[in-house]
Amino acid sequence: MNALPDAEFRAELRAFLNEAYPDHLRYLDRRPTIAEIRPWLEALAAKGWLAPHWPREHGGMGLSIGKYLIYYDELGRHGTGRLPDHALHLLGPLLIRYGTPAQKARFLPAIVEGREIWCQGYSEPGAGSDLSSLRTEAIVDDDHFVVNGQKIWTSMAPHADWIFLLVRTNRSVAQQAGISFLLADMKTPGITVRPIMNLKGESEFAEVFFDNVRVPLDNLVGEIDKGWTMAKSLLGDERITLGSPRQSAYAIERLELLARKTGAFADAAFVDRLTQLRLDLQALGASFRRYVGMVERGVRLGPDVSMLKVWATELFQRITAEMVELGGEMGSFRHAVRFEDTVIDVMNQYLEATPPTIYGGSNEIQRNILAKAVLGLPG
Ligand SMILES: Cc1cc2nc3c(=O)[nH]c(=O)nc-3n(C[C@H](O)[C@H](O)[C@H](O)COP(=O)(O)OP(=O)(O)OC[C@H]3O[C@@H](n4cnc5c(N)ncnc54)[C@H](O)[C@@H]3O)c2cc1C
Repeated sequence: MNALPDAEFRAELRAFLNEAYPDHLRYLDRRPTIAEIRPWLEALAAKGWLAPHWPREHGGMGLSIGKYLIYYDELGRHGTGRLPDHALHLLGPLLIRYGTPAQKARFLPAIVEGREIWCQGYSEPGAGSDLSSLRTEAIVDDDHFVVNGQKIWTSMAPHADWIFLLVRTNRSVAQQAGISFLLADMKTPGITVRPIMNLKGESEFAEVFFDNVRVPLDNLVGEIDKGWTMAKSLLGDERITLGSPRQSAYAIERLELLARKTGAFADAAFVDRLTQLRLDLQALGASFRRYVGMVERGVRLGPDVSMLKVWATELFQRITAEMVELGGEMGSFRHAVRFEDTVIDVMNQYLEATPPTIYGGSNEIQRNILAKAVLGLPG
């Protein structure tokens, strides 16, 4: 695949998307349910295309970063719904690097074949940006850990089979030194999932409570008390993928369509704002390509890549805010704005743009990184 010219690779992806992705799930105004997305998950798995960036020996496509970004670009252009992807993006690469042979054999095939769905238990009430202050505790008892505590904002928890979580295993060392990384079956007695409704009225994420939950010692990944470094290594690539201009590019197309339908191109002030957004999108695209090029050349990205996440997520918000403004009274409705020949999901785009400035390291935290590590400002 990596040897294919980009255009041919795109054509292959498009052909498969046209053949295998259910038409009625294109450009959904919500995240598809597991039942809805399962046929697509299984089609990708059957073709061996579910894990584009995993090495081939573990069932992945082994794509280069350039091809990997094309892969997601094409999925985005086709309007595919988000897969349950925490294990594909986060846990799988971590197990490949740090897992025992038994853990790899037990968990990787089930992930890459789409048989088991995972959720990520990092955040807690009081431990989000300052994650290392987490308090969920695991105490060794014979051949098990006994876990007590609470996670929050756990995406997909109501549907997940397994959870990977950070727990405190040592209180007598520095905060970051006493954290371990565990794998727990969601069916274990003592785990309770309480869904949280998001702004769109969906219960995609949840609180997860652990009450004397027994997790086998074999489900510890890496060494005890050494989970922090591994967990951080998982988050390293996120800033470049969250910096993709794809969502903003789609939103600006919808904004222009809305402008044509509402006659806004006759308004010089609107055209002025749209031009600025277009220029900002060009700038984002150029920066994104520069960072992708660096990754392709094997250059280790520095703290300045935080700029990409800030720019991409805030541009997405500015475009969607403009859409709501332009939609007038219709723009504030939860349902899409209908014209005789088209439907524009104004409020949905706006709500989609809201959370990305929070997750993946909030934008305030990214700005702190830029201030300290790039500009050298005092802490
Ligand atoms: C849609 C969505 C899905 C998520 N899915 C998951 C998941 O699957 N698993 C999981 O573990 N977590 C998940 N999260 C949680 C996410 O990682 C946290 O929300 C994020 O880390 C921020 O933590 P917090 O919500 O506790 O906010 P806090 O850390 O309490 O921050 C509150 C506000 O204060 C600001 N702030 C905090 N510290 C500083 C500082 N030092 N300087 C300047 N400003 C600061 C923040 O930027 C923010 O604006 C999800 C969040 C969202 C929105």
